[in-house]
Amino acid sequence: MKATLMEDKDGSHLIVGTNNIDAQIKREEEYRRRMADARTSARNDFLANMSHDIRTPMNAIVGYTNIAKRCQNDPEAVSDALDKIGSSSHFLLSLINDVLDISKIESGKMQLSVGPCDLGAVLRRIEDITSLQATSKFLNISYSKERVRHFRVLGDELRIEQILINIVSNAVKYTPAGKDVILIAEETSLPGSKKSRYRFVVRDTGVGISEEYLPHIFDSFTREQDTRTNRIQGTGLGLAITAKIVELMEGTISVKSKLGEGSEFTVELDLAPLPDEGTEGTEDSGADGAGALVGKRILLVEDNDINAEIAEMVLAQYGASRRSGPRTDRSGSPRSAAVRTDTMTPS
Ligand code: ADP
Repeated sequence: MKATLMEDKDGSHLIVGTNNIDAQIKREEEYRRRMADARTSARNDFLANMSHDIRTPMNAIVGYTNIAKRCQNDPEAVSDALDKIGSSSHFLLSLINDVLDISKIESGKMQLSVGPCDLGAVLRRIEDITSLQATSKFLNISYSKERVRHFRVLGDELRIEQILINIVSNAVKYTPAGKDVILIAEETSLPGSKKSRYRFVVRDTGVGISEEYLPHIFDSFTREQDTRTNRIQGTGLGLAITAKIVELMEGTISVKSKLGEGSEFTVELDLAPLPDEGTEGTEDSGADGAGALVGKRILLVEDNDINAEIAEMVLAQYGASRRSGPRTDRSGSPRSAAVRTDTMTPS
């Protein structure tokens, strides 16, 4: 109810207006209820997806570990079990990384770590990884970076690599044998800006994406409902993360696709080139050979026994060896609990 007092030559008048807002309140309540339902159902979907996606590789890891233990006299069976444990662990680790990334992004906690970035090294690493994946699937894969003039830029190298690896790996994953995948990187200058526009196009002649699914392709936990793609392992998180990282970099990502013919993903990032430090193609600095750690002193701090053992074995592969003597805890007394410190010295 609204009341207004008006004065005129005849005296004072009280004007009263009423309006029934029951319908409006009902609409607002309905909207709030729908939002709460959507949140609950998203959380339930998330938990259902997660428990299924985690349990599947975990079952394989536990199952094949038991098989390997039982078949110790059959090296072929043990090696087959180890391969399967390896690929399931790899999938589980990438799922956990994706889930951590998506929750970091959704809670607004993902931050870019911007610094000098070597796009040449990024593209080389992507080539190394994806050409192996492609050859094992009998795909033709090619890379073109002739139209990039500046490879050293200011950007988040790790995240740029994550964007490209997700898209190129998908192209390889969803393209059958004998077909083609290409990654094209090109740079165009932006008039009046210190930045250049870097465009990365990933084109494949694979299974393609349906018109119905295409608008949802960047939503978390969604996958094409297609028998061909459902048989391929995936979580439906890779592109959601990719799109969010591109957004954080103030770039754009777009996709064109036709079912049965193939897909084309385009990412555009505006990045500031840095002065050249020699030619593109310089190898990553640092020795990475088997003896890289000979002569180095290393302090290994790890509170988990299994992780400590793995770290020791990895370091030993690079030439470090454990100095004899007891493992110690923080106080220097022989190791008893949480932290042990072992010094690995040159072999
Ligand atoms: P997933 O882990 O399932 O690969 P993504 O988020 O990376 O998750 O991709 C979501 C879905 O988009 C995939 O499950 C697949 O259906 C579809 N998709 C992505 N890239 C391609 C591609 N290059 N060709 C065909 N389908 C694709």
